[in-house]
Amino acid sequence: MEIAVVGGGIVGGSVAWQLASRHAGNVTIYEQAVIAAGASGRTGALLRRHYTNEPEARLAQLGWEVFRNWDERVGGSCGYVPWPVVVTVATKGDYASNVDLLHRNIAMQNRLGIDARVISAGELQELEPHAFVDDIDVAAYEPESGYVDSIQATSSMIEAAQRAGVTVQEGVEVLGIVESGGRVTGIETGDGTKSADIVVCAAGPWSTQLMATAGVEVPVSTIRVQIIIAQRPFELAHPHAVYLDTVAGIFTRPWAPGRSLVGVAGGDQHDEVDPKTANLFNDRDYPARAISAIAKRIPGMKNARYLHGHAGLYDMSPDAHPIIGGTGIEGLYLAAGFSGAGFKKAPAVGITLAELIMDGEARSADLAPFALDRFATDAWKTPWSETEYRFDSDFGHGL
Ligand SMILES: Cc1cc2nc3c(=O)[nH]c(=O)nc-3n(C[C@H](O)[C@H](O)[C@H](O)COP(=O)(O)OP(=O)(O)OC[C@H]3O[C@@H](n4cnc5c(N)ncnc54)[C@H](O)[C@@H]3O)c2cc1C
Repeated sequence: MEIAVVGGGIVGGSVAWQLASRHAGNVTIYEQAVIAAGASGRTGALLRRHYTNEPEARLAQLGWEVFRNWDERVGGSCGYVPWPVVVTVATKGDYASNVDLLHRNIAMQNRLGIDARVISAGELQELEPHAFVDDIDVAAYEPESGYVDSIQATSSMIEAAQRAGVTVQEGVEVLGIVESGGRVTGIETGDGTKSADIVVCAAGPWSTQLMATAGVEVPVSTIRVQIIIAQRPFELAHPHAVYLDTVAGIFTRPWAPGRSLVGVAGGDQHDEVDPKTANLFNDRDYPARAISAIAKRIPGMKNARYLHGHAGLYDMSPDAHPIIGGTGIEGLYLAAGFSGAGFKKAPAVGITLAELIMDGEARSADLAPFALDRFATDAWKTPWSETEYRFDSDFGHGL
């Protein structure tokens, strides 16, 4: 059996690794540029498991178990750092109902085996002496969710796939998907048509255009999001927690010794772009905005120094939940629309999509909620849970 995986990011790598490990056939990864050229090389790679809906929390948990036990499960290292993750939600004034929602979401996560608890602002202050906490009452606290090195993890995943027999073709763009009579038969590349019994499209923001060549409509749009790496002042040499901070409007994590990765929520950076031509550099004013935003949570960061940064692309689905599974064409599968939060889930996507492809059913986690056909009606407009937070910061996605 010939299997083509389009996209050499963490998702394509993970699907290829699982399919080859389970001896599904001859698996080839086609990557138009280099491994981790897309979001997988530009991401924050925070592994927060805090979600307001169970299907995504399950994928985050299953993914985290792989990251945490990488050497045993995948082999090598993904640069995992077990580190506290703090998620803040507004609770003052009109936002008071978020307190109860936070408790309910943590209870759901605990049921799934996620080590998380609600902490008070006072407890956060003890854990994070440099933090400003007067603007919050409670936060979600995950002692060990941590983060990984995204390029190391993607490369290591693809090395594992190679060890299992996968062929990697860098610099080969897949120009089209060929189907006949409702069944996929191959892919088109600059070198001609390659036959394939199974094609998995894991092409991130490029998926919409590629799937259209097989007549499959994929409602994924592309937005541009920036991050910076800043040097912390010496008084903050000890790394702070990872924050997904909907109150201060930032996501941040320690990067390398003395440095932090910072991203700022903000509508102006969420304009739709063309993935082929998007500007992947920081806007001129972005570093100052990022530093002033992180200083809302860690005031001493006002003296942080910008070192470098970049933009990356989010593949946004209409409901900001991933699209994983079959496509209506036999043998053609899709894993895209991760909406800015797919890195942590990627190992789980590989495991479950391989189960679906080979066994006809995903057993390790339910993929039904992620089906592409949810967009055929207005069903996708129904929120995935009753515990979604109200917050004003625009991260491009909810929680
Ligand atoms: C700034 C930023 C911060 C983020 N922070 C987090 C975070 O903290 N935690 C988290 O979980 N997620 C985060 N994400 C999201 C996460 O990085 C992505 O969801 C994840 O990396 C998607 O992986 P992927 O393999 O699906 O896509 P990609 O990494 O984009 O890979 C797709 C690949 O397909 C290739 N390709 C496309 N078209 C073709 C074609 N026709 N032929 C051949 N190859 C093709 C591309 O070159 C690319 O390498 C962030 C993303 C960004 C941009």
